Amino acid sequence: MAAKKKTWRITVAMQCKECGVTGYHTNINKATTGKLELQKYCKKDKKRTVHVSKKKLK
Ligand SMILES: [Zn+2]
Repeated sequence: MAAKKKTWRITVAMQCKECGVTGYHTNINKATTGKLELQKYCKKDKKRTVHVSKKKLK
């Protein structure tokens, strides 16, 4: 029987750096991923902006 693996994947909210809107959720690997920055389309700004991982969700 295989040992149960520890789950390091957590859900974080991606927040737009420009307007602060949290429009995306993503799963990251807590063990390997630090602060995450992604280019995402912001509906409010109507353009691609840098989104940063904000807070851990359930
Ligand atoms: Zn924005």
